[in-house]
Amino acid sequence: MTEAGGARGAVDTDETVGTDESGPSALRTTNRALVLDLLGRSEPLSRSELTRRTGLSRSTVSSIVKELMTEGHLAETSGEPAPKGTGRPPTRLTLAGDPRVLVGVDIGHRHVRVAVSDLASDILSEREVAYDVDREPAPPTLDLTAKMVRECLAEAGADESRVVGVGMGVPGPIDPRTGTIVSPILPGWVTLQPSVELADRIGLDVRTDNDANVGALGELVHGAARGHDDVIYVKVAGGIGAGLILAGRLHRGVTGIAGEIGHVRLDDDGPVCRCGNRGCLETQVAAPRLVELLRPAYGVELDVERMLALSRAEDAGVNRIFDDAGRAIGRVLADLSNHLNPAVIVVGGAVGVSPSLLRGIRDSVARYAQPDTASALRVIPGSLGEHAGVMGALALAKDVPAVAGLPTAADHRSA
Ligand SMILES: [Zn+2]
Repeated sequence: MTEAGGARGAVDTDETVGTDESGPSALRTTNRALVLDLLGRSEPLSRSELTRRTGLSRSTVSSIVKELMTEGHLAETSGEPAPKGTGRPPTRLTLAGDPRVLVGVDIGHRHVRVAVSDLASDILSEREVAYDVDREPAPPTLDLTAKMVRECLAEAGADESRVVGVGMGVPGPIDPRTGTIVSPILPGWVTLQPSVELADRIGLDVRTDNDANVGALGELVHGAARGHDDVIYVKVAGGIGAGLILAGRLHRGVTGIAGEIGHVRLDDDGPVCRCGNRGCLETQVAAPRLVELLRPAYGVELDVERMLALSRAEDAGVNRIFDDAGRAIGRVLADLSNHLNPAVIVVGGAVGVSPSLLRGIRDSVARYAQPDTASALRVIPGSLGEHAGVMGALALAKDVPAVAGLPTAADHRSA
């Protein structure tokens, strides 16, 4: 019996393999433990991913998986929606009958969403509340979030003792060293430690990252970026931000600001941005600015929701504005791609789902990225839509390898 087997609690690894401590049986016990341990710490994996990540041979993995499934230790899961146009979702393996759960929290500029899932990230319960996070002070937002966590756990039939981890995305940059919000972008939250604040309210440890990083994790682990090691995820919604996956890991930078492409300066004389600079990309193309540009033709009552509905209905004027916004964003992404040489740019967020915006980004990237960079790069829509954040928060809760051991509330308290 291995330490790992004992620590997992739910899986006994040694009872059927014989007691001989040397030779093929002992080796098989070790290999079984390796497979179980990896699946206990990761997202659901396909057989070929298991082969790659354990370093075992394909035939060994195949035979061990067959044996563990027969014994009821492993189950197959689809876990996530199939990427559009790719047909059946790939079959992946996860630990079976494990009663433990993950909690994911996605706080946006305009909503709070909470989900509880099993270890395969299959959602057991979920709640969403429309909420003006930008204008409300942080404490009531966190009180509401804590209440939603308790409700989702109760609905999933899970108590606190079954929670493996809690992951949370918030719409502002977080210093990974201290866990504090480091920018005036989220005014009511500056100098706050969101992980510690939520942990105090729910009595569970919490790991927090910014919303674009969490969206990137969601698409990397469960969505359109699966299988890629170098990814730019761009979220276009009430703000604009990017999450960077470099060599398979989230890149946060020294103080957590990496990927804040919404604050690339485009116009020295432009309007003042909430970050304190002038003429940032975000002041030109985030949702509130697009609404402003459309109001002369569509009336003062036009709001973000109505604009998004018009875009879905392929309204010509709205799509023209979205296409132009995509071009401006693509211009910035082209430069970023020249620096990072990614395999994919995944576009998400409430505005990012627009085909017109995606087209504009593609045109600009093709035009302005260096040709070798552009030819190695695909610009694709996210496959998780509005669920990217909460699915990424669940990956954060599980501390998958791409999270790279981001400190939790407990780490920040003891620092
Ligand atoms: Zn700015």
